[in-house]
Formats: sequence, structure tokens, C-alpha cells
Amino acid sequence: MPGRPHSGKVLLAVQAHSDDIPLSASGTVAKLIEEGYTGYLVRATNDDMGDAVGLGTPGTIGDAVIGNEHDNAEIARVLGCKGHFDLNYNNHRMADVSLNEVIGRLIFLIRLLKVDTVVGWDPWAHDEENPDHYTIAKALEAACWMAGRSHDFEEQFAAGLKPKTVQDKYYFARRPEITRVVDISQQVDKKIDAIRANVAKGPGGHSGSHLRAELAQHNQRLPLLGDDDLAADRNYIREFSLAHNRELGKQYGVEYAEVFHYIPANASGGERDTRIDQYIKQHVVPAK
Ligand SMILES: [Zn+2]
Repeated sequence: MPGRPHSGKVLLAVQAHSDDIPLSASGTVAKLIEEGYTGYLVRATNDDMGDAVGLGTPGTIGDAVIGNEHDNAEIARVLGCKGHFDLNYNNHRMADVSLNEVIGRLIFLIRLLKVDTVVGWDPWAHDEENPDHYTIAKALEAACWMAGRSHDFEEQFAAGLKPKTVQDKYYFARRPEITRVVDISQQVDKKIDAIRANVAKGPGGHSGSHLRAELAQHNQRLPLLGDDDLAADRNYIREFSLAHNRELGKQYGVEYAEVFHYIPANASGGERDTRIDQYIKQHVVPAK
């Protein structure tokens, strides 16, 4: 949308790992912030398991923690977020953390920041293999609803917080049920920079410059990777990491797209069906 139609609204982007939002939704997060949202980034784990063999920066478990902590802060900055929060659960171990504890922490953030819209993993999606993804997804879905109620975690009200429901939800998934397509063609450079900030984890990060150096050892080069490390990293991400966004774009008639299971306000669980208020407005008469 042109201008800043979302001024005054608050966006909470919730990821399990430092690369979830960059890969799946960073174009949309950047776009919503450009359109006026005040954005915050939440990372549920400490990313201490690093990533797949051959991706990112090799090192110990501790190296993965500190590397991803720095990377995540950079991702928040690149996307224009006002702040970020690290919940610090162990990577790949969220399957048996207390779901109610995670829900309670998200409810606190929703009420504290007065969140209007969330972006996160889809709790209803298929093909998900990572327990951190489906655990934080379930917690976020529950928190969006429970945060608006007047008895859940009511001790938070004594600290000055107020109930706050979130009914506007952009959920991403490995095999998404697509109900909203976002044109991110204008936000591609920010998405590339967010993926480039995943140095510790890959799969973007410095993969391009590493490949360029590897080829040079064999006296070879790829024109795609340009003449310096920055160009190599950015062009590698544009070509390979964004291939799926280009394919989606082609399908929906734009250059680059991200897709979501989008749940709009009043789709379910509203405090009161807005049709009741509409009915009253249309039919109310003076009492005799
Ligand atoms: Zn992840």
C-alpha cells in the first residue's frame, strides 16, 4: 500500500531460529515496517545447534550461540525493527519446554508492546520436522488469543499491562495453505541483507564469497559472483536463496513474492462478533 497506512500499529515477528524470518518472511516484515508498523523481532531459541554440515560458520556449540546472537541483532537492524528479544531456549529442544511458560512470555510481550499483528510459523501446517518451529507456532497462536482475556496471567495487570488481543496473523510454513500473497519486489534488497546477516547459520551469509574463494583456488570463477566478496554474497543469495520467491512471483504476476496462511481480524475467537454491533446500529430504535 502507498504511504504509511499502518502508522501507530505494532508488529511482532516471531521466529524459532535466526534464519526463519529472513528466509520465509523478511520481505513482508520489511514491507509492513516501511508501511508504518513499529516492528519487534522475537527469537525463541539460542541457536546453539548451529546448522547442517557445510552451512554457516563451523565451530563449537558456544560459537553457534554467540554467532547467532550477533546475527539476530543485525537482522533486526536490517529489517528496521525497533527492538528484539531472545527467549534463549535450547535449539531443537523446544518439544518439551513448558508450553504454558512460552505462552506466558509471549502474552507479556503482546501486552507490553501492544501488538496488533504477528508474523510467525503456522501452527496448523504440514511437513514440519523441527520441534522448535511447531512449538513456538502453537505458543504464539494461543498467546494471541489469551493475551486479550481478563483473567489469564492477571498478575501482569497489577504491573500496569492491559488485555490485548491479536487477530491479524501472517503464518508461514514449509507447505503453506496460501490465503495471502505479498509482493516483496521492492523489499528484495532488504531480504537479501537479512539473509546475508545469517553468517553463523548460513544458508546465505557468506556462502557466495566462500564459493568465490573456493573456485579461485582452482583458477575458476563464476561471473554471477562478481568482483568482490560483498557482490558474491549478495548475488549468490539473489540467485539461489530467492529462487523460490521468484517462482512464487511468476505464479502470482509479480517479480518476487512471499506467501502466507493469513488469518484476518474476526476470523475466529473475537471477543464479540462485529456483526452484532452492525445489527444493533442498523436496527436500534428509541425505547417506548
Ligand atoms: Zn528454524
